[in-house]
Amino acid sequence: MINLQPIRKNFYVPHPVVQKRSQHEVDEYRRSREIYVKNQAPNPIQNFSEANFPDYVMDSIIKQGYESPTAIQAQGWPTALSGKDLVGIAKTGSGKTLAYILPAIVHINNQQQLSRGDGPIALVLAPTRELAQQIQEVANEFGHSSYIRNTCIFGGSPKGPQARDLERGVEIIIATPGRLIDFLQRGTTNLKRCTYLVLDEADRMLDMGFEPQIRKILEQIRPDRQTLMWSATWPKEVQKLANDFLNDFVQINIGSLQTSANHNIHQIVDVCQETEKEQKLGTLLQEIGNTLDPDSKIIIFVETKKKVEGITRTIGKYGWPALSIHGDKSQNERDYVLRTFRTGGQYSILVATDVAARGLGEYKEEINKQINLEKQSILA
Ligand code: ADP
Ligand code: MG
Repeated sequence: MINLQPIRKNFYVPHPVVQKRSQHEVDEYRRSREIYVKNQAPNPIQNFSEANFPDYVMDSIIKQGYESPTAIQAQGWPTALSGKDLVGIAKTGSGKTLAYILPAIVHINNQQQLSRGDGPIALVLAPTRELAQQIQEVANEFGHSSYIRNTCIFGGSPKGPQARDLERGVEIIIATPGRLIDFLQRGTTNLKRCTYLVLDEADRMLDMGFEPQIRKILEQIRPDRQTLMWSATWPKEVQKLANDFLNDFVQINIGSLQTSANHNIHQIVDVCQETEKEQKLGTLLQEIGNTLDPDSKIIIFVETKKKVEGITRTIGKYGWPALSIHGDKSQNERDYVLRTFRTGGQYSILVATDVAARGLGEYKEEINKQINLEKQSILA
């Protein structure tokens, strides 16, 4: 057991105006910007000057010409600057990158400088190379004034230049999980100094099957780090990840889940007995088949692999040829099934387990939103 020096994580000095705001005013502001907060969080700030950022950060904000913080920034900055673990759920384009990069910069500037052989202070995990590079641009723009170095680590390109950056030392690593693990295993870098951890687009990372890699990386980071997780949706897999790796976190939702759901999907919840299901499914397929246009597609999600096989057989017998997909099928088979399903033809029905839904990409995103919504309305 190594003795770890305690981390300094709380750098937030609330602006007097923010601190003095009445609860009523705070509630009113949150309502007006659709900010929903779970767990104890500082008051949101209402403009940039209220964030009390150091000058070197403020200067970069002014240079960008932004007028006011977005909702996720208004509530996210004071929370992140306080050193709290945080889950931020807000739709794409709502300014989440800056919501974690600016506090990262303040965090880094308040830590001991890197020594030779030290790994990064901040680690940002992202699902794709493109996203990692977009994040890097923001880190470049806002980290520049305080000489914060960063590098972008992703698969599919030569390791040499990335390794050289790592060996030279960087305060921020922005990485896709696979390539980072590669470098960690080779000892090119390490996460001993990492005290600020960001999981960006957590939902997408899980959709892409990165969960085992994420867990492997997170196990190497000291447990008292600050962890911030960002997502556009809040499915149960993401909730589980948050519960496993974040401590006593503040959850911020922007906008109701209602508005982020796809209104093109008509939802019917039919609560029934297990024994009725098969017959109901048959009737439903019959109805849908009679009314929908020939290009429509149907995905049936079921719980187990066995059920996938069973239902595929049953509906096949009734004259509904269906494709099926689940975790026991090889990657080749799964790719084939998805291609066939997408291109249409004879097969317009797919039976799948939730796990297999990962490969369904855009479908899955819509379906996730709907499932969330459904759960909410059932719980309500
Ligand atoms: P998200 O990660 O939530 O999808 P991004 O962080 O990529 O969103 O930001 C989306 C866009 O909004 C970017 O072009 C960014 O420069 C811009 N942006 C971020 N913060 C602000 C702000 N406070 N005011 C105006 N534009 C902003
Ligand atoms: Mg983003």
